[in-house]
Amino acid sequence: MRYDVVIIGSGVAGLYAAIALPKHLKVLIINKSNPWECNTYYAQGGVTTAYNDDDIPSHVQDTLDAGAGMCNLPAVKLMSENSQGVIRDLIARGFQFDCDEEGNLLYTKEAAHSRSRILHAGGDATGRHLHFFLLGQNPHPMLSDTTVIDLLIENNRCCGVEVVTGGNRRTILADNVVIASGGVGSLYEYHTNAFTISGELHGICIEKGIELESMEMMQFHPTVFVANNWARKQLLSEALRGEGAHVVDENGYRFLFEYDPRGELAPRDIVSRAIFDYRQRTQKKVYLSCEHFEGEYFKERFPNIYKSLNDLGFHLPKERVPISPAFHYAVGGIKTNLDGSIPSIQGLYAAGEAASTGVHGANRLASNSLLEGLVFAKKAAESILKNSSHGCSESFEIGNEPLEIEGDKEKKDELRRIMWENVSIKRTPKGLNSALQAINTMLETNIGRLLRLRLLTAQSIVTSAIKRTESIGVHYIVSA
Ligand SMILES: Cc1cc2nc3c(=O)[nH]c(=O)nc-3n(C[C@H](O)[C@H](O)[C@H](O)COP(=O)(O)OP(=O)(O)OC[C@H]3O[C@@H](n4cnc5c(N)ncnc54)[C@H](O)[C@@H]3O)c2cc1C
Repeated sequence: MRYDVVIIGSGVAGLYAAIALPKHLKVLIINKSNPWECNTYYAQGGVTTAYNDDDIPSHVQDTLDAGAGMCNLPAVKLMSENSQGVIRDLIARGFQFDCDEEGNLLYTKEAAHSRSRILHAGGDATGRHLHFFLLGQNPHPMLSDTTVIDLLIENNRCCGVEVVTGGNRRTILADNVVIASGGVGSLYEYHTNAFTISGELHGICIEKGIELESMEMMQFHPTVFVANNWARKQLLSEALRGEGAHVVDENGYRFLFEYDPRGELAPRDIVSRAIFDYRQRTQKKVYLSCEHFEGEYFKERFPNIYKSLNDLGFHLPKERVPISPAFHYAVGGIKTNLDGSIPSIQGLYAAGEAASTGVHGANRLASNSLLEGLVFAKKAAESILKNSSHGCSESFEIGNEPLEIEGDKEKKDELRRIMWENVSIKRTPKGLNSALQAINTMLETNIGRLLRLRLLTAQSIVTSAIKRTESIGVHYIVSA
C-alpha cells in the first residue's frame, strides 16, 4: 500500500499536521514507542501566543532578542502572526486552557517575555493536556513501537521510509513524508527529554546530503533535578522562576544577580551558565527555593511538579530542591522553508523540534516551541494539500546494515558522557576537538545503524560548534 502522507512522530507537530489533513487521505503516523512518549507530553509551562494584534511586534521583538540577531525574521513574523489563529483553532475544537472563574484565559509570563502571553493547561501539565487532546482529534491510523531507520529517496524525491517494526524491517511507500521526530536529547548524559528522542532522523538527513542548520545551538535548562535514576531528568518549569521562585546557594544567597541584573528572570542560557559557573567556582550546591509561594496555590498551580517532587521525597513549596542545568531543547535542526518543506527534496517536510525554521536563531524564547510546532506543522499540511504527487518506484531495497551489535550500548553511554562534558554549557576548542576525535573514532569501528545515526548527529553538533568560534546565544565558547 502507498500512503499519501507518512508522518514520523506523534508529538504536537506530527499530530497537528495529521489533524490538518482530511480523513479521505491515506495518512499514517509512526512513533517509536507508545504515542505519548514524546517531549510534547512532558511540556509544562505553556504555549506562547501574541496576546492580541497589538502584541505581535512585541512578541516578534522578544523572540528576536532571545535569538541574539540570528533569527529568520520572516519565520518569526509568520509564527507570531499565526499564533492567535492556532490557539483559536484549538479552543474551537474544544481544548481548554486554564481560565479564571469568569472564564477569561489566564496568561502567564516566562523569562525574557516582555508581558504575560503564555497560555497553560492543567496548571503545569500543558503538554500532557494538549497531547491527549490532539490524540483524540486525530482521525488517522498510527503505527507505534516502530522506528524509522531510513528515508527512501529517488531522484531528489522522498518516496517513503524504511522502518523496523515487530523485529522486522520493511519499507512503507508514501508520496509525502513529514519528519516530526523531535530533538536530540538522548545524545546527552543529563537531559529532560523523552527516551524516544535520539536524533536518528538528523543522522539520516546527513547521510542523504540534506542540510542541517544551527546544530551548535543546543539549549540547556537551568533548573532540573538530576538526581533521579531515570534517563529523563525532572524539569522544574521556567514558570516557577517567572512567578517568584528563587535560585539560591546552600546559604540561601541569590547569586544570579552577580551575573545579570534580571536575576531569576534572565534568559535561561544566562541562568544555566551562571549556575554552572557558580558551582564550579565555589563548589557550593545550588537549589530552587519556592518557599515564597503559598502552599495551596502552589499545589493548584503546579500540581505535577508538586506530586512528582513529593514522590521523590521533597515537600514543596517549603523544602528547596537541589538543581543543575541539563540538556533541554535542540534549537537547530533540519533546514526548512517557511511552508515546512525541505529545500532539496520534493515530498519531504519537517516540523517541530526536528526542524530549523530559523525562528529561534541562537536561542529559543521560552514556550515558543509548542507554538512553532503548531504553526509550521499546519503550514506543512497546507503545502502537501496544494502540491500534487509524482511517481516513485514501486519497491525499494531494504538496507542490510545491522541495527545494533554487541558493544553499542557502552559506546552510546560513552557518547552521552562526551557530549555532556565537552559539548554542553561551556565549550572549549580543546574539548570540542577531543569530542570530535572520539566520535570519528567510534564511527570507524564496527557499529550498528542506530548508533551510527546518533554519532552522525553528534558529529554535526560538534563540527558546527567548532566552526563558530565566538560565543552567541546558547553557544558559549571560551579559549580554555
Ligand atoms: C520537560 C519538557 C518541558 C517542556 N516545556 C515546554 C513548554 O512549557 N512550552 C514549550 O513551548 N515547549 C516546551 N518544551 C519543548 C517542547 O515540548 C518540544 O519542543 C515539543 O513538544 C516538540 O514537539 P515535536 O512534535 O517536535 O516532538 P516530540 O513531541 O518530541 O515528538 C517526537 C515524536 O517522534 C517520534 N520519533 C522520534 N524518533 C523516531 C524514529 N526514529 N522513528 C519513529 N518515530 C520517532 C517519537 O516517538 C515521538 O512520537 C518542553 C520540553 C521538555 C522535554
